[in-house]
Amino acid sequence: MATVFTKIIEGEIPCYKIAENNTHFAFLDINPIAKGHTLVVPKKEIDYIFDLPDDLLSETMVVAKKIAAAIDSSLSPIRTGIIVEGLEVPHAHIHLVPIYKPSQKFSLGHSVDISENEMQEIADKISAGVNI
Ligand code: AMP
Repeated sequence: MATVFTKIIEGEIPCYKIAENNTHFAFLDINPIAKGHTLVVPKKEIDYIFDLPDDLLSETMVVAKKIAAAIDSSLSPIRTGIIVEGLEVPHAHIHLVPIYKPSQKFSLGHSVDISENEMQEIADKISAGVNI
């Protein structure tokens, strides 16, 4: 059965889209731990990130780097951190999490409250600066 991320990539489930190319898709995490929390997903459905072929793993990190640059310029965090966990959705992905203050909670399993309107505004801001 297709993963929830494949369904998003194929347009069966809505998302706050950030960017897409032939191999990757990025969108806002629906349970953001910070404003602008983004997921970068290789379209190829592989569960464990370290099972990705080397070239795809490298490309995933390069795509994440480009999207982090757009997050940094559009939302002005101190910097953008990354989390890789994959315990919930069995489809490899990188969490990009803007860090706005050193004391910010930086782990999955909680979320900040952001309205649907603001989620769309955030996605629009980030995606305006992305070129992958
Ligand atoms: P993990 O697999 O533990 O790295 O976490 C999976 C992440 O995917 C969680 O942060 C979820 O909030 C996120 N997620 C699950 N379903 C969706 C969805 N439909 N749209 C956006 N993010 C999602």
